[in-house]
Amino acid sequence: MASKLFYQSRLPRPALDRAEGIYMWDISGKRYIDGSSGAMVSNIGHSNPAVLQAMRDQMEKSTFGYRLHFQTEASEILAEKTAALCPDGMNRVFFVSGGSEAVESTLKLARQYALAKGQAQRFKVISRMPSYHGSTLGALSVTGYAPLSAPFEPMMQHMPKIPAPRAYLDGLDADDPATGLHYADMLEQKILDEGPDTVLAFIVEPVGGASTGALVPPAGYMQRIRDICDTYGILLIHDEVMSGGGRTGRFWGADHWGTAPDLISISKGFGGGYVPLGAMIARDEIVETVLDAGGFAHGHTYAGNPLACAAGTAVIDEIHRAGLIENSATVGKYLESRLNALMNRYPFIGDVRGKGLLLAFELVADRVTMEPLPPGLNAHSRLVDIAYDKGLIIYSRRTRGGLSGDHFLVCPPMITTQGQVDEIMEMLTAALDDFAAEAGLGRSA
Ligand code: PMP
Repeated sequence: MASKLFYQSRLPRPALDRAEGIYMWDISGKRYIDGSSGAMVSNIGHSNPAVLQAMRDQMEKSTFGYRLHFQTEASEILAEKTAALCPDGMNRVFFVSGGSEAVESTLKLARQYALAKGQAQRFKVISRMPSYHGSTLGALSVTGYAPLSAPFEPMMQHMPKIPAPRAYLDGLDADDPATGLHYADMLEQKILDEGPDTVLAFIVEPVGGASTGALVPPAGYMQRIRDICDTYGILLIHDEVMSGGGRTGRFWGADHWGTAPDLISISKGFGGGYVPLGAMIARDEIVETVLDAGGFAHGHTYAGNPLACAAGTAVIDEIHRAGLIENSATVGKYLESRLNALMNRYPFIGDVRGKGLLLAFELVADRVTMEPLPPGLNAHSRLVDIAYDKGLIIYSRRTRGGLSGDHFLVCPPMITTQGQVDEIMEMLTAALDDFAAEAGLGRSA
């Protein structure tokens, strides 16, 4: 019988039977390595016994308590644990069920904070091109990815965009602090162009996700954007939906630069693939100001449900108990070195980048000019399909503002061992060989 389900396209995939650790099996018994943790979600791997037990225990007690009727112990505990991981002065946690909801929440809390401070003229949220912040209309307004936003243009807010700091495309040295300043200056210029009094916030993925393929900011960038936001009284939002939770080798992506935002969004690895869960974390003073001024006019029905929160707490506990942040750092370094070595074999790999186990490689026609592969090759979908047939799941996107260019995220769960990286690399090399042959691209022996 034809499926009644639909998502964004016709993409026939086999039915999932079961999953354990970094492996998944379809109903025919074929095994896959979850080389992208789904969409960078299943950070602690599948079927973790401690998380499943915590969920069972919570289910025996209660699975839902509406937030306007009850506080729950489960949500209090997760809020406490989350706040303890945040920069000083960021202790207020607002639960949601996913990344887009988390981003929407940051935008709306920022706006109400400005209103409460008598700054009604502030409403513009500057973001980067490309970027991805979610699919709901508000989050899409700050998303810099034309193919997703074009159909909805008339229905969206037109938010100012600045270029993401893709030093590798612009031929700049990402380790040179002058490069960080060069891109951060674009933020200041945009603020001046828009009128500083009208700008509410700047939203940034500290380590880029799907839209940029694990883009790491150049030296000095994160510190400088913090300074610029402070100069103009603009809130800084770190969208850590993908980079938060330890995958980069630190709990927050921004921890690599030691900078603190005013608002954070997190999801994906926060629920770890066990439950739909996300959160906004805000500076205490922002929340107090908004609550004093009459309250936050925003909320989602399933927010803070005890089952999701119990799972979220168990995920954080597992990350710490098993040393998964450290593992992401060390195994990530090894995987990154193996990906870098692929550049010797495949001249059409133009760049390898990322932090910890948030890693990506980009395919190009010419490594010097970074000319993209011909769109007709459909590299972004062909390589994924070839790898999938071999039992390796990776995640891809077209980049360059959505016009061309193909990048691939290799982001296995944070429990991945060095031996499993070797297994992934064997399958990936075989997939790249097949792709090169099919696309008529040269490679070294
Ligand atoms: N922000 C970032 C940085 C993301 O990577 C994503 C998801 N890819 C989102 C927001 C949206 O999250 P969700 O799909 O859970 O709504």
